[in-house]
Amino acid sequence: MSTLFIDGQWSAAESGRTREITCPADGSHIATVAEGGPADARRALEAARLAFDHGPWPHTPAPERAALLHRLADRLQDEIEQVARMEALDTGKRLVEAKIDMEDIIAVFRHFAGLAQAEAGRVVDPGVADVSSRVVSEPVGVCTLITPWNFPLLQTAWKVAPALAAGNTFVLKPSELTPHTSIWLVNALADLGLPPGAANLVLGAGAEVGSTLTEAPEVDLVSFTGGVVTGRTIMAAAAPTVKKIALELGGKNPNVIFADADLDAAIDNALTAIFLDSGQVCSAGSRLVVEDSVHDQVVDELVRRAGTIRMGGPLDEDAETGPLISDAHREKVEAYVAHAVEQGATLRCGGERPGGELAKGSYYPPTILDDCHQDMDAVHDESFGPVLTVETFTGADREGVEDAAVAIANDTVYGLAGAVWTQDAGRAERVARRLRHGTVWINDFHPYVPAAEWGGMKQSGIGRELGLAGLHEYQETKHIWHNTRPARADWFADRA
Ligand code: NDP
Repeated sequence: MSTLFIDGQWSAAESGRTREITCPADGSHIATVAEGGPADARRALEAARLAFDHGPWPHTPAPERAALLHRLADRLQDEIEQVARMEALDTGKRLVEAKIDMEDIIAVFRHFAGLAQAEAGRVVDPGVADVSSRVVSEPVGVCTLITPWNFPLLQTAWKVAPALAAGNTFVLKPSELTPHTSIWLVNALADLGLPPGAANLVLGAGAEVGSTLTEAPEVDLVSFTGGVVTGRTIMAAAAPTVKKIALELGGKNPNVIFADADLDAAIDNALTAIFLDSGQVCSAGSRLVVEDSVHDQVVDELVRRAGTIRMGGPLDEDAETGPLISDAHREKVEAYVAHAVEQGATLRCGGERPGGELAKGSYYPPTILDDCHQDMDAVHDESFGPVLTVETFTGADREGVEDAAVAIANDTVYGLAGAVWTQDAGRAERVARRLRHGTVWINDFHPYVPAAEWGGMKQSGIGRELGLAGLHEYQETKHIWHNTRPARADWFADRA
């Protein structure tokens, strides 16, 4: 099963091991792929190192690097149906959502193609006669790129596009559950002219392949998106050789609704915030933080609407949301809900596996846990499923209400994203500035802007992980001082 891509060649795993890929919507078999191990990871790293140290890619002129990224975007546009279908079958997400992801991915490749040419360095004034001085940007080196299963190709594009735009070489390890669009990507890159060794793909388990790829001294940068526990392991693995790291580790994102909000819009968006992609989104609005006086109005309506959300497989055109990624993940979500109820949460809807046709897949219904408070684990731990916790706030006066909302919203070790709903523009600004989260939406939830930065405060990550605002995460800068009139130094007398 030749689905590893190393040094421009497709190969099987050295161990001969394979893995069955199934669709989480119904357990059907999709394909058999190679299951790489540490030996394959080491081969890939050698190829990436060689391609960086001696290959043409790091020295390819920026316009040519940009042109390749544009050609990749064109190829994806041409094959959008087929690639979206691969993604939908691997993840179980609806085909229509997978197509939206593909449009985003095309935009990401075009965005970084533009930046490849824009970031050419700068001249600085050294303040010394006969010296010219400039700061140039250079690629970091060999990048290990590790991606999760929730938006497989989009998360991969956020790493691969800037890495290539800046002239790096890479080894990619996608989630073992969702390999297909990564296979498509490296195939397309090679076909479009990327030199051998610049892009390598190793499929396999994180504990084996991922750890080799993060510990190896050949690696200069590790960019990872996934859970905080794995993120900590990667930080430790990168430390001995002081690798550059970029981490995006999820969030426990508050969606704050004040009583003076446009409640119809707030309720509608609160549903999308948490139930989009069955809650398997790092920026999901998993914590509803609502002003006490409108709690019943908001939560009763959310419960009613959540109960009407239709679940179904990737090709079911009536479906509004899909299954979870795997049975193992569903069991984690179930345990999370059971523990919340034990700690005093009120289960208002969901919480039970659906029957009938849906029993074949890893489905879990939209679930709302009311009466939550800061002493419960559910408001601190990610479920990464379609589970909304509800907390309330109140205060003696206008200022006290805002203080209470901010205190609850910031009481998390994460800091990825959050939202504030109010029709009072001053309040919106005040609260948005006080929220300790990397992205704050005012009267909205979820939109992201390729040209804006995306990254987390606190334990949500390190660096502006996606480098969306620039290539700096994937570049080194070097100051070059050029003395055009070299002279003898007069520090030490010549006593010979
Ligand atoms: P992980 O963090 O375990 O996995 C993400 C990626 O890291 C996968 O490619 C995985 O490989 C790889 N990996 C696992 N262990 C290591 C390691 N020691 N060294 C290097 N790479 C490794 O996420 P899970 O899929 O297990 O999900 C766990 C939780 O993570 C979720 O419940 C959710 O809270 C969070 N998460 C956050 C995401 C985000 O967007 N921020 C996305 C996905 C999950 P493999 O799985 O192939 O073994």
